[in-house]
Amino acid sequence: MEFNQQIPLLLDISTPDRTGYTLPELDVPEVELTELVPESLLRETEPQLPELSEVEVVRYFTNLSRRNYGVDVGFYPLGSCTMKYNPRMNEDIAALPGFSRIHPYQPEHTVQGALRLMYELDQYLAEIAGLAKSSLQPAAGAQGEYAGLLIIKAYHEARGEGEQRAEIIVPDSAHGTNPASAMMAGFTIKTVPSDERGGVNVAALKELVGPQTAGLMLTNPSTLGLFEDNIVEIAEIVHDAGGLLYYDGANANAILGITRPGDMGFDVVHFNLHKTFSTPHGGGGPGAGPIVVSEELVQFLPGPVVEKAEEGYYLAFPEKSIGRVKSFYGNFGVLVKAYAYIRHLGAEGLRQVSENAVLNANYLMHHLKNAYHLPYDRTCMHEFVLSGKWQKEFGVSTLDIAKRLLDYGIHAPTIYFPLIVEEAIMIEPTETESKATLDRFIQIMFTIAEEAKDNPEAVKAAPTTTPVGRLNETQAARNPILRRQAK
Ligand SMILES: *Cc1c(COP(=O)(O)O)cnc(C)c1O
Repeated sequence: MEFNQQIPLLLDISTPDRTGYTLPELDVPEVELTELVPESLLRETEPQLPELSEVEVVRYFTNLSRRNYGVDVGFYPLGSCTMKYNPRMNEDIAALPGFSRIHPYQPEHTVQGALRLMYELDQYLAEIAGLAKSSLQPAAGAQGEYAGLLIIKAYHEARGEGEQRAEIIVPDSAHGTNPASAMMAGFTIKTVPSDERGGVNVAALKELVGPQTAGLMLTNPSTLGLFEDNIVEIAEIVHDAGGLLYYDGANANAILGITRPGDMGFDVVHFNLHKTFSTPHGGGGPGAGPIVVSEELVQFLPGPVVEKAEEGYYLAFPEKSIGRVKSFYGNFGVLVKAYAYIRHLGAEGLRQVSENAVLNANYLMHHLKNAYHLPYDRTCMHEFVLSGKWQKEFGVSTLDIAKRLLDYGIHAPTIYFPLIVEEAIMIEPTETESKATLDRFIQIMFTIAEEAKDNPEAVKAAPTTTPVGRLNETQAARNPILRRQAK
């Protein structure tokens, strides 16, 4: 690893006998350590502990925390991830003792408020999806996909076609989790190619469907940020063949209050609350990937789900439930934050979210296509995909461009995805960025395009202003060094 700035260890800045604490005088009888701990368990050498004053410790960790980058620090155009600003109000509400100090084993009558929140969130998500009922259990988008696919499987089994319907169709632009989840759920994957406009190749789809089709998984707008305008015909083709339609709604930032997966013909949907519904993400969780299904599939939902009776709210398992997909009821704290977000914005506000997200993306796309190749030049939805192939001619790759952005204080976009675009740069600004921020980003992207032509070495050497330089990303992921030893 290449360090641009040295990061000392606490031990490196330790001074013998310096302390950061004061203890009160001993008010109990003093005993020998050996009276409490057997001699064989006592250490032979002094532990090597840093000795520092309180202010030194505070400064050390504050400075370390400032080496991290997040959406609270600056712009984060990470396509497909919807790195919008998360309102602090959500955090305050999730921290209320009535939400944060309850236990999943408490009797139902003592947690009616929490159950009501889950019930209402289920109903809001159903309304947003245009479908019947949700399960809030899945902890991530990928887990929602897996649960949804198990439901599709259970549906075919209940109709006596479990064996026969073994194939899930996935477009070549799909998020990697789609084929992975389908594989884990025991299906065979069939890939349908995209057409020249970036949509599903309908003729190829017609060839693929048949009595072996369990379903189609689709992201709409697709990972190219393009709306699938043949969706009604696509839904008909799959339904006529006896299959179901799964909507990957991880990123629903373009459709809130404008269109609904249920109206497009989808049977199962998952949403990522940690993308569209403003709950924090990154670093691996916790997240929430609730699924919403059509009336016909409610009986298969994972349990327990919240139901409502005269006497109040209660937990129950749907009749032919696929069982639990997670302990208890999902990541409750995340559910509270998403609920607060939805209630705060209301129907009007949610629609505005999507309108502004789409406007911001089109604004960026309109400008950036002057400096970067735009493979699908159509009105985009919440994101769009550029190609770095013009810069590649000067020996500068998309990876170099992404690294150079870090030097200008901006998080890198998603790169090399979707796989069908060469040198892909996937940009999603979200609705929470101002025009001033977008204009600054455009300027920086223009500057990098100029540098690629006039000074490619500067781009290829990036980043030079971050604490660490270029990492071997495979090594960093497979063998992370999480602890440094003192010299
Ligand atoms: C993020 C994402 C997923 C996966 O969601 P996780 O919560 O990371 O499992 C699936 N599909 C699409 C299109 C996504 O953007």
